[in-house]
Parts: sequence; structure tokens; C-alpha cells
Amino acid sequence: MADGADSQPVPSDQKQLRLRYPGTCVACGAALPRGAPALYHAASKTVRCVICPDGAVATPPPPLDPGCAGASAQREHDRRAGKRAERVKSRFGERLGGVIVRVVPEPQATRAWAKGSVGERKLAEALAGLPDVIVLHDRKVPGTRGNIDHLVIARAGLFVVDAKHYDGKLRIRDKGGLFRTDNHLYVAGRDCSHLADNMGWQVKAVETLLASVEVTLPITPVLCFIDVDWPLLFQPESFHGVRLEDPRSLRKLITAAPALDSAAIDKLARILATGFPAK
Ligand SMILES: [Zn+2]
Repeated sequence: MADGADSQPVPSDQKQLRLRYPGTCVACGAALPRGAPALYHAASKTVRCVICPDGAVATPPPPLDPGCAGASAQREHDRRAGKRAERVKSRFGERLGGVIVRVVPEPQATRAWAKGSVGERKLAEALAGLPDVIVLHDRKVPGTRGNIDHLVIARAGLFVVDAKHYDGKLRIRDKGGLFRTDNHLYVAGRDCSHLADNMGWQVKAVETLLASVEVTLPITPVLCFIDVDWPLLFQPESFHGVRLEDPRSLRKLITAAPALDSAAIDKLARILATGFPAK
């Protein structure tokens, strides 16, 4: 990059530096070699060109990595299952321990990770092959230990989706008194209100990333329930600002009301895939 670039004004939330590691420009997808001058956005931990090249990038950006649905949850299951097998075998010996591991069901908490992973894969299947829909699965959020299950970029906009593979009845109940509303979300009799509240940091992380490239766009958080029983009448549409969907209704939601064209979908997907790498 020309030295003249150094005289360009640097946005106040970005810092100009020379890269210690190679990176990818979050705005245009250009590869930035080690030692190149770049802008660093601390809040989203992303880098970008000091000035993005006009038009098409000289070298075409690498194909977008859609990630692997449910991979993190599956890994956590396997880690827990492995530790359990180790514990049992050290106590009962290789042979008897092996039998016990096979015949005694895994603890509920361990099974829940495998079930969650299956739910994420089912959701991925439900959204696969839809035209003008790009889905990024199991994304790292740099600077946190958390992950985002699914980012859906489609004609109807941008959706942050958490898949929940639960059985049982889904209901919203008002626990407030006569003069106060205090809604809680229940699945199979358990208070699951925290699921909606857990979407807040994910939406914030996406907003922060988009702010680093001066993009403002409404972001719709979605809890997508796989296999729950919905009320027959008055199926709730949202809870605490989070859409409540199943895979079928989610397909409808993301392909409704066109807000983005193919080019915008593609550009947005690339920004998100760079800012939130596959896990
Ligand atoms: Zn760039």
C-alpha cells in the first residue's frame, strides 16, 4: 500500500497499525499480509484496509466458510463422554468399565450436548438450498468464549438464530399480579426465559461488527425450537423481543418481505464470515 494512505483520516473508533499477523479485510475481503498497514477495530477485533481497493478486489477472496452446524456442541459432548469413560475405566478396569460405559446411559447434561448438536444440524438442513439465503453456522465471537449458533442472511434481512432441541409444551405464562405483566417462557414446565435474554449479547456482537464497517441494519434474534409442542391457538410470535419459530416458520420468516438483494446478501455474509470465523 502507498505511503500516501497514511495521510487519510482514520475513523475515531479505529487505530492504524502494521499487522503482526496476516489478516482479512472485514469490509472487502482482501487478504492483508503481515506487516501491511491496516485499521484495527478493537471492539470487534477486526482489521480492514486503510483504503479498500475500488471495485473488485485484485485477487478474488477465498470461498466463504459456512462452518459446520452443531460442531461445537458435538465436541463438548465428546469431551464429556471421553472424560466419563476415563473415570469409569480407571475405577472398574478396561473391560468392565467399557461395558458400564456402554450400558449405563450418559448423564443428562452430557446427552443434552449431543441432542443440541442434532438440533443445530436439523435447523441447518431446514434452511439448506433456499435461494438467496446464506447461513453461517457455529461462529466464534472473537474476545469471548461464546459462539453464535447460526447467522442467517436472506432477502428479509439478518437473523441471529439459536436452535433449541427441546421436547414438551412451549407456553408463555404471565406470573404478574392483577396490575403487572410478568411473562415467562416455559418449555416442558421449565422456566426458559433466560434463553431469550441470552440472545442480547449475540445481537450486540453483530451490531458491533457491523458498526466497524459503518453498516446499520436491523438484526432479528430468533429462538428456533425443534420438536416442541406449540399451543394450538394463539401461537406466540415473540418473547422479550426475540422471535419464537420452528424450522418451517423460520423458512417463511427469512424469505418474506424482501429487504436485501443478492449482492447485499453476499457482501453482508462475507463481512460476517470474516468477523465471526467458523469454530
Ligand atoms: Zn478492504
